[in-house]
Amino acid sequence: MDIKLTNTLSRKKAAFAPLDTNNVRMYLCGPTVYDRAHLGNARPVVMFDVLFRLLHLAYGADHVTYARNFTDVDDRINETARQRKADGAAGSLEDLIHERANETIAWYHADMAALGNLSPNVEPRATEYIGQMVEMIEELAAKGFAYGAEGHALFRVSAYETYGRLSGRSIDDMIAGARVEVAPFKENPMDFVLWKPSSDDEPGWDGPVIDGVSLGRGRPGWHIECSAMSHALLGESFDIHGGGLDLQFPHHENEIAQSCACGHGFASVWLHNEMLQVEGKKMSKSLGNFFTVRDLLDQGVPGEVIRFVFLSTHYSKPMDWTETKRAEAEATLQKWHKMAQGSTGGQIDPSVLSAVADDLNTPGALTALHALAKNGDAAALAASAQFLGLLDADQTWWQSQGLDDDAMARVTALQEQRVAAKKAKDFATADAIRDALAGVGVAIVDGPGGTFDVNVTPAFDQAALMALSI
Ligand code: AMP
Ligand code: ZN
Repeated sequence: MDIKLTNTLSRKKAAFAPLDTNNVRMYLCGPTVYDRAHLGNARPVVMFDVLFRLLHLAYGADHVTYARNFTDVDDRINETARQRKADGAAGSLEDLIHERANETIAWYHADMAALGNLSPNVEPRATEYIGQMVEMIEELAAKGFAYGAEGHALFRVSAYETYGRLSGRSIDDMIAGARVEVAPFKENPMDFVLWKPSSDDEPGWDGPVIDGVSLGRGRPGWHIECSAMSHALLGESFDIHGGGLDLQFPHHENEIAQSCACGHGFASVWLHNEMLQVEGKKMSKSLGNFFTVRDLLDQGVPGEVIRFVFLSTHYSKPMDWTETKRAEAEATLQKWHKMAQGSTGGQIDPSVLSAVADDLNTPGALTALHALAKNGDAAALAASAQFLGLLDADQTWWQSQGLDDDAMARVTALQEQRVAAKKAKDFATADAIRDALAGVGVAIVDGPGGTFDVNVTPAFDQAALMALSI
């Protein structure tokens, strides 16, 4: 299978050739675990999940390692813990910090699973790799790429000649475009933090020793976390590294500087997803259009519908979440579920596979699924959709719509009553049943020759359905 990917480093689409086909390795920058994931945070996860599934197919699941980290050192986590302590929560501040990170990680796992994403092979937490970060900072200092100042360790950007290679910016552009923190202890405003001091009520660890002097109790900067964790888990050189486009600069640029200055080859291919917007606008709390994955799931939007909408835009394009797309995805999936129900033993269609292999062309893959559905090829539709993480084979179509088996049995019984009433020419009762079902969100659509279709609408209310008395 020929896989092509567009590498941010070269800005070109090229054939993907792993360093070792027996050990294909990729790293995705994961979330900072201070709160629920918003909808945009799910975009890189879905994109990398599609890639993970493709690599499984191409190289075998045992020959692929996917690492996605949790950043659990963060001032916003500390802030919640501090607030809880002030509100009288039991336990030390350290316990409360841990508790906040743990609950956020559990939410993240549940939300990403609901979108049909497979679990990565490893999910390192930054706090478990502090030793490796300290070692790396000491190595950078020994090689002249880092220096200590006032309890901080800083990366000396001027020592790393190819800084800016990934984002293609000059140092002047970067200074102008970024909120570079000017601090009196920096040799140069571009230098970035590898380690910073912690106060007594902040989490802290023994710092690196630079020029024989310990920096003392502190915590790592964000960028060094990914360099140290990817090194520990995937080695000095690995295949693919990614994240959202917002991470390209400075986060990924800094990761490259740190790892390559240590002499590591680091990642061969860089992938970046464009950003998610909502109804044409940037998602933000101030615009009132900010929502989490969980908000949508709680509103009754199936995770699969969210995934379908994500797949309908190529990762390299900005993607717009809209109510119209949600409704269309929901209708399409309902149709496909009914069609694919019980179909086993199909093969992933080559048209779907070649689209995904071509730089993760997921909109092309969905077009191919539409063609399979149109041709009535249920087995290929089922297998191909499952490859993309859609049409879960363990679910009936009604379960995918949020109806449990009891609810479906009730719908079927009412429909049978309706058919009997129509046979007896009691159209008033037949219509009353149809209207009652419509009122609880189950639309019955009569087809030719006594056939009918059931469509579940977003207004579906299971309790009201079960309570219907006709
Ligand atoms: P963070 O927890 O903020 O570091 O973000 C986790 C991941 O979500 C990173 O890969 C970001 O690039 C990505 N991300 C954040 N906001 C968006 C968005 N609006 N659209 C797409 N990806 C995003
Ligand atoms: Zn990272």
